Order: sequence, then structure tokens, then C-alpha cells
Amino acid sequence: MGLVSRFLRHAPLRTALRPRRGREDRGPTRRRRRGPRQDAGVSGTARKVPFSPTEPFRYCPADGTKLTDPRPSGGVTCPLCGRSWYRNPVPAVGAAIVGGDKALVTVRAREPHRGKVDVPGGFLEVGEHPVDGLRREAREELGVELEVDPTPVLLAPHTYGPEGVWVLAIGFRARILRGTPDPADDVAEALWIGAEEVEGVDFAWEHDRGFVRAALAQRG
Ligand SMILES: [Zn+2]
Repeated sequence: MGLVSRFLRHAPLRTALRPRRGREDRGPTRRRRRGPRQDAGVSGTARKVPFSPTEPFRYCPADGTKLTDPRPSGGVTCPLCGRSWYRNPVPAVGAAIVGGDKALVTVRAREPHRGKVDVPGGFLEVGEHPVDGLRREAREELGVELEVDPTPVLLAPHTYGPEGVWVLAIGFRARILRGTPDPADDVAEALWIGAEEVEGVDFAWEHDRGFVRAALAQRG
């Protein structure tokens, strides 16, 4: 009971819990992520501004011109600069980190889905190769260096956050090369789970269940 039962649907976990450490314990290499966060605290004021991540752009991102007459595809052309703008899903990467007969999952410390379980990873930065982005996220979130199988084993579109931003999740199987998982401030806990425990985990996104299960089933 207690810590473990909070994010399990029924099965008990036999794995050790690592307490979350404060940011002040971080070495200089443990940076917070840069750039805008998809779940950045939307303030009470901002929440009143209508926004849909799937409707056509209303203003040109290049020059601020008001845009009208979107095409059926959702694309809209700026009358001033001539650029066409489209909404696109945001790529995010995740790791099914396997060690022996267990896989590492993380308990989310932040919204959306705070307290639920996902896998280590995050949003790509501009120009970043997905594998590099995943290794960066593992360093930031857990302080570990990953070896990543370069062929994705998961491709799953899903929505994220209260405004329904579309994300394309790209999942890789990985192993820890160096370090012991030590959660940073956006991860509440990191847990090693076995195949028999996957069904009982309260995942934030259901596709992670199949992702972790498949990674555990693959030997080597
Ligand atoms: Zn423009």
C-alpha cells in the first residue's frame, strides 16, 4: 500500500522505489528542458483565450498578418508573405528501457496525467535526431546514459494536454549504458517492472502498455 498502490490498478509492485530528489541535488549537466512546454502552466487568464491546436492558423507566424480562407486541408496562405501554414502533430520520443527481465517506467510528477505512469522521454527539439533527443531526455530526467536501438518499435498518434495537442509518439527500445536512474523534478519515481506487472500499471497513455510489453517480450 501507500506509494505503490497510488499508480497501480491492482497488481502489487515488488520493485524498489527511489525517492524523488530536489533540483538542488542536480549536477550542472542536469538542465531543465528548454523552450516552450506543451503543458506549460496555462494561467487562468490564458485559459480564457480560445485556442485549438487543430484549427487553421489565424495569424501568420512569420509576420502576424490575419489569415482567412483556409483550404479543406487546413492549410492557409498568408496574403503578405505567401507562406502556407499547416497544423502538424508534435513529435515526441519515449524509451522502453530494458534491464534483464524488467523495464523501467516513470511516474509523472507534472500535468497532464500527474501521478500516472509513462516511459522516459519527451518532446524533440528543433533539428534534433529522435535518438539524440531520447538520450538527452534520459540524461535530464534520470541522469542515465542510454544505448538506443535505432529502429522505432512504437509509432502512436495521441492527444496531449487539456487543449488536445496532437503528438506523434515514437518509441525505442533502450538499455542503460551508465548511471542509476535518479528522477529529476518532472519525474516522481522510476520503477522497474516485470512482464507480469505491466497489466496492472495505470498508464497515462494506453499505447505505452503495449510498448513496454513488446520491449520485454523481445529478448537480447
Ligand atoms: Zn506571412
